[in-house]
Amino acid sequence: MKQDTHHSPEWVPPNAGSAEGFTTNVMPGIKSAHDGMPGGAASRVVAHATTRRRDLSVDDYVNGVLSGNRTILARAITLVESNAEHHQAMAQQMITRLLPHSGRAIRVGITGVPGAGKSSLIETLGCKLCAAGHKLAVLAVDPSSSISGGSILGDKTRMELLSRHPGAFIRPSPASGVLGGVARKSRETMIVCEAAGYDVIIVETVGVGQSEITVRSMVDIFLLLQIAGAGDELQGIKKGVMERCDLIVVNKADGDNKLRAETARADYQRIVHYLQPSTKGWQTQALSCSATTGDGIDQLWANVEAFRENTRASGVFEKRRQRQNLDWMHNLVAEQLKRDFYNHPNVRMNLPLIEEKIISGTLSPTHAATLLQEMDKSAELHAIAR
Ligand code: GDP
Repeated sequence: MKQDTHHSPEWVPPNAGSAEGFTTNVMPGIKSAHDGMPGGAASRVVAHATTRRRDLSVDDYVNGVLSGNRTILARAITLVESNAEHHQAMAQQMITRLLPHSGRAIRVGITGVPGAGKSSLIETLGCKLCAAGHKLAVLAVDPSSSISGGSILGDKTRMELLSRHPGAFIRPSPASGVLGGVARKSRETMIVCEAAGYDVIIVETVGVGQSEITVRSMVDIFLLLQIAGAGDELQGIKKGVMERCDLIVVNKADGDNKLRAETARADYQRIVHYLQPSTKGWQTQALSCSATTGDGIDQLWANVEAFRENTRASGVFEKRRQRQNLDWMHNLVAEQLKRDFYNHPNVRMNLPLIEEKIISGTLSPTHAATLLQEMDKSAELHAIAR
């Protein structure tokens, strides 16, 4: 069997090819029993060295990110996503130092059902933005990773052209089970990317469950991608989603579908007048575009810029960010408290029995919650009677 001598580092999108701009393949080190040192430990040491990357200090991370080094940027995000306690401590120090260098990007959220054309749109728009000199980071918040452990956004080859562009940085959704949830990681990832000089951040998600609300809570402008002809009932378009977005974009306005897309756009434009706007002082706009032909993409971006100017001038932009930061802090506190609570030895020891009693109907959930909270306050270890 032919041995695979190359492997891609984790930041490389699948099928990225051997493009310039970043390394897509890494040669594993050559194992050798001879390292010039006396003694028999050489092979063990060398084998170890081939798999282990040099540990970076907080200074290394901060300096690397600030100088726009994308390898270190990718590792800094891995650090943010790590659940190891000492990584978390380092990540917090790094974020604290990077925060003053962040905040200058426009943060754009994009949602839409699978197949609406999100990755195609981001690819077309992203290539245009990069050609115009912008630096673009694309992050994904994938609801499926927390629900099923699988992935809706990450499974296929996506944004192939954009991923090869040196001005673009694409990061898939953090894996499920990350401590503190995907939202916290994505917020911190955004800060790191901004500090690395990315001036446009696109956060992509699928319109499922909590993920849309999460993304809305971390971006400046929220865009809902729709398609005409699939039937709105199929797209599950809800008033709630429309009241969370600032732009509704009907994609695939090309070929035979152009007329239908235009009709759908006009319908949306009428509907939004009856809805609560997502952003004070900004009337939600309905647009149409084609990610395939590129029609309407410039106009879409012009709307994003108009939104930014308009909300900056009115102060709504800054106010939203301030509120988002406060929400972020409160969410962190809530998460920390919950984690500490469930980690308390008394809670850990008694929880299985308490759950059993709730299931068998011998203990009410309210009483159980009170019992657990009392145990959490006690420094002594005690178990409840069976
Ligand atoms: P996502 O799941 O929302 O990321 O959707 P994709 O970007 O993967 O697109 C789903 C399918 O729609 C793909 O086959 C695309 O080629 C196609 N598609 C995306 N945008 C357009 C468009 O503007 N026009 C047409 N005709 N097809 C498109």
